[in-house]
This record gives sequence, C-alpha cells and structure tokens, in this order.
Amino acid sequence: MPRAHRPIVLKFGGASLADPDRVARDIEAARAEGAPVVVVASAREGVTDLLMGALHHPRSNAVRRRVLEEIRLRHPGLPPAGRATLTRLRRLLDQVASSGSQDAPLSDRVLSQGERLAVRWLSEDLRRRGIPAVPVESDHLGLITDNAYGASCILFDRSRAAVRRGLGERLRKGELPVVTGYFGRSLEGRVATLGRGGSDYAAAGIGALLGAERVELVKRHVAVLSADPNEVPEARPISELSYEEAEELAQFGARVLHPLTIEPARAQSIVLRVRSLDDASVVTTIAPARPGRRNRALTLLRPLRLLRLRVPGGRQRPGIVAEVSQRLAAAGVNLVQLYTSSALLCLVLDPSRVVAAIRALAPVTREAAAMVEGPYPVTLVIAIGDGILDDLDRLPSAAVLGAEGFSATPRALSIAVPEGRGPEVLRALHRALVTDGVR
Ligand code: ASP
Ligand code: MG
Repeated sequence: MPRAHRPIVLKFGGASLADPDRVARDIEAARAEGAPVVVVASAREGVTDLLMGALHHPRSNAVRRRVLEEIRLRHPGLPPAGRATLTRLRRLLDQVASSGSQDAPLSDRVLSQGERLAVRWLSEDLRRRGIPAVPVESDHLGLITDNAYGASCILFDRSRAAVRRGLGERLRKGELPVVTGYFGRSLEGRVATLGRGGSDYAAAGIGALLGAERVELVKRHVAVLSADPNEVPEARPISELSYEEAEELAQFGARVLHPLTIEPARAQSIVLRVRSLDDASVVTTIAPARPGRRNRALTLLRPLRLLRLRVPGGRQRPGIVAEVSQRLAAAGVNLVQLYTSSALLCLVLDPSRVVAAIRALAPVTREAAAMVEGPYPVTLVIAIGDGILDDLDRLPSAAVLGAEGFSATPRALSIAVPEGRGPEVLRALHRALVTDGVR
C-alpha cells in the first residue's frame, strides 16, 4: 500500500477509556490525517482483575454477584449486543462454578469478556458522537494463536489473510473498526488470551498484519520512563528507544510493555509510539536505532531465587551448560538469568520453580559430582541501553557490593543483588547512569 494509505492503529489501555471525550478527540485527530484508522481496546480498568477474582472463587455466589454488578456499572449505556455479552458472562461464570475443575480455555473465554464489553461500549459511545465505529471481536476476525491458554502467541501466517480481509472490508466502507485486544482464537478454535497486558501485543500484531504506518499505545498517564517512579522519584520520560532496547526492557519485566509487543513491529519496521492520553508531550517513540542516541532505562526483576551449581572441573566437561539448561527446560523451569564462571553456574529462577529445579538437576549432581547451594533470595537490577558497556566505569560501588552475579551485553546489564537491596541499588544506578547525565 502507498504510505499515505497505510493504516494507523490506535490502542487504548483500560485506564484511558475512563475519558471517552479525549479518546474520541484522539481518534478524530488520527482520522483527520487521512489514513484509515483501526482502534484496539483493552478491557476497562479493573475489569480483568474482577474476572480473575471470580475465577479464583468459582463457588462463591457473593463474589460472582459483586463482580457482575461492578462490571455492569463500568459499562453504562450498553447497546443490546453488549447486554447480551453480560448475560453470556453470567452463564460462563455459572459454568465455571458447576464444572469445579480449572479449565484453561474456559477461563480464557471468561477473561475475554472484558474486552468484548469494552469494544461494544466504546463503539456505542463513539457512534453517538457521529464516528462510524463498529465493534470487532478478534477471535471472530481470525486472529489465530497457538494453544498456550493464558499466555498464547499470535500465529502471523495463519492470521494474515483473514485479518486483512476483515478489517479491509470495514475500512473500505469508511467504518472505524474497534477491535478487542488481549486474545485471539487458538488452533483448536477456542478463545486464547495473550497474557496480562496482552492488548499491546494484539495491537502491535494487528499493526504488523496490516502493514500499518504506526501503532500508538495510548496509556492514561505514563510513557516509558527511565525507571518505575514509585521506586525512583526522579525517573524521567524517555523520548526514543530502539526496537532492541525496548525489547530488552519489555522482556526484562518493565510492566509498561507486554514482552512480545516489540518483535512484530520490528520485523516490519513499524514505528511504535507509547504515549499519554492526558499529556501530549509525554511520548516514547520506538523505532530503528539512531546513532548518537543515548538511552538508559532501569528495572527490577523480583522475587527470584539463585541456585549455585558448583561443577568440579567445570568447563572441562563439554556440554555441561547445555545439559543443565535442557534438564531445566524438560522440567518446565524457565531460566530467568544464568551467570557462569569456569566451575560455577548461577541459575536465577522463579521462587515457585526451585524445588522442581533441584529435582531436575539431581542426575547432574550425581554424575558430575556437582553441588547445589542455595536457594538465595535475589533481585535482578537491570540497566538497558545501546552501548551500555561504555558505562561500566560509572557503576557505583554500591551496585556491585555483595552482588551474587553480574552479566552484560552491549545492550543490557544485569546484577543479582541480595533481596532487599534491590531498590537501593536501583536508585544508585539511576543516579549514576541517568541523573548525572551524559559525559
Ligand atoms: N485486559 C487485559 C489485562 O488487564 C489486557 C490488557 O489490558 O492489555 O491484562
Ligand atoms: Mg487491562
């Protein structure tokens, strides 16, 4: 498509939907650029948490009643199709209550109702303002995912034709499709959610499928900051990040972006903009790296546990690292980080996986006469930015004092510090790498 006709995808987060006047103005501004506009919406703020609450108390009538009532109140003025969605939600929760067992696809179906309600509610509101909005459910549209319910991935090749056809038809009629974020349809034909915060990923995915000009992730207040302002009061907005920097940041757990959001945009060179609905000056542009930019962003990963595996003869044993990671993978243990020296492998894992990890490593400890020490509670302090190795001489001693591990690539460094020291180390690093500025 010629550049002028490539669509713009606008994704509105749950909190931003609380201000429909601004949302409508924002959409009008994008439509005024002359490009076709596709909206992707999250559930209204708190709705997914309410649905999770109902799933956690499947047998409580009181919880179910309260959840349904609160969700209804958050969607005033629902058209009949929206009221039908509420009725369906009530039936689904009854089904959850009577089925007794945890059923991941059924849970995902329940969780998807928040976005279904949001697009019906938002479309109705926009139509009242004269914007030709039409709600679109992403599973019906043909956004296909794998079968990993609760954390599924979009299957791009299987989704492309249907998504382009479905949205293209509506755009050609001059309509504004308002698409549900957060979920798609699995290969088995059931509803599959993309994980918490998955609407960002859905929007980036739809943008990539459409070959969009840009994808804007509209949040209520925040953009991407140099650190979590609750931890670091002097954290400042970052105006630009490369795809690779943003990917590291998202994968290392900065909650502002879902971890899979960046890749679909990067693969098609689609500019991503994370911006605030309230303050137009707060924007982070995620685009190809530009020489001469220096960005630094910090984040904490926790709670985590570190296991030390001492391997006598260490690196003389070919394949030891592969063997350890394969055994962990076979036991379903995700290695969050690995620090190695010649006879020591430090494995960083989720606390809930420690027992499984120790069990999975038993054959290695027997055959290689290795020893496991720990678990030690740790927090990972992560600093991200292209060329970060140039900053090693700025690291404050507080950052590495008593550290349990350290690793670095030209793009990210990670320091494992004893749990409890994380916030203090984060602030010291922020002072050194961000506040004290560029040399
Ligand atoms: N509503 C979902 C959640 O709260 C998806 C999203 O907001 O992106 O996780
Ligand atoms: Mg949400």
